[in-house]
Amino acid sequence: MEVLFSTVKKMHEEIKEELLNDFRRVFESNWFITGKEDAKFEQAFAEYQNRKYCIGCGNGLDAMMLSLKALGISTGDEVIIPSNTFIATALAVSYTGATPIFVEPRIETYNINPELIEERVTSKTKAVIAVHLYGQPAEMDKICNIVKKHNLFLIEDCAQAHGAIYRGTKIGRFGISAAFSFYPGKNLGALGDAGAVVTDDENLAETIRALSNYGSIEKYNHIYQGNNSRLDEVQAALLYIKLKYLDKWNKERQRIARRYLTEIKNSKVLLPKIIDEVEHVWHIFAIRCRDRDRLEQYLEERGIGTNKHYPIPLHLQKAYQDLNIPKGTYPIAEEISATELSIPMYYGMTDEEIRYVIDSINEFE
Ligand SMILES: *Cc1c(COP(=O)(O)O)cnc(C)c1O
Repeated sequence: MEVLFSTVKKMHEEIKEELLNDFRRVFESNWFITGKEDAKFEQAFAEYQNRKYCIGCGNGLDAMMLSLKALGISTGDEVIIPSNTFIATALAVSYTGATPIFVEPRIETYNINPELIEERVTSKTKAVIAVHLYGQPAEMDKICNIVKKHNLFLIEDCAQAHGAIYRGTKIGRFGISAAFSFYPGKNLGALGDAGAVVTDDENLAETIRALSNYGSIEKYNHIYQGNNSRLDEVQAALLYIKLKYLDKWNKERQRIARRYLTEIKNSKVLLPKIIDEVEHVWHIFAIRCRDRDRLEQYLEERGIGTNKHYPIPLHLQKAYQDLNIPKGTYPIAEEISATELSIPMYYGMTDEEIRYVIDSINEFE
């Protein structure tokens, strides 16, 4: 049997006509950048997130970078981020000229350990980026308290957690702004690159919108040296359709996760821990194993697709060699990099496929 690591095939097949109709409508409108479709999706997504403003942009990296820029973060500033995340979180900081400061995650949840944040706060610290990694909300109560105490900005990286809930509140409502990616493989994905920022702050929303559109407040009147990072009309129209199904798709991911959590039983395999009172949306189902590479190979031989999130921690990436952080500085991020394996998780997995993944892992020696 072959089980893919991830695919949007079933998702898209089920709503193919709706998507194609909307594609045709935008095609025939002959209008492709910043128009009605964009406005319609932004309104729908702001409503879904229960926030006042949504600004569509080109991708998740830009959504975060534009938020930081709009808050005035720049050279000489420091921004705290987890040591275990996708490189985009760090790059968004670096592109403003600020320096990313890494804080270790908790190994059981993979999310930033709030108890280690304060010791990294300095006079240069301007913001904390809370990443809801793999679909699980970060520990927002504690993070919000620290941020308030030190008068820092809180920005959320929601790229992996569309629809996740922390103690009754949807993630994306905690920070002054929250950045989303709609990369095709995310829980809510476009058919190409796309992203968005949500916020309740009118000035911030206006600044981000201007920054995303060449720094202009009206055509050919540029008040900032902005970027070009807008949400295409075609993507906005398709995302509007897909947003209606997001909760349904997340529920199915949760069903698969529950089966994994209760039925995977192998002393060699560590399952992820979920904190109290959250709805995890399982962008990634991350297990850990001392023998990770052998498990990966074994599953591959059985036709089961896996992935590693992420094989090289940020502080050891060549791209960040100028930070001069030696190996061993962030042992938990390094441990996760060495032992983490992501197993198949997507809407459309059949019960036979789920069963086969569980049995295969249980039979690993
Ligand atoms: C995907 C992702 C991003 C970046 O999103 P893009 O749309 O690919 O730019 C940022 N942060 C995290 C945690 C991600 O997984």
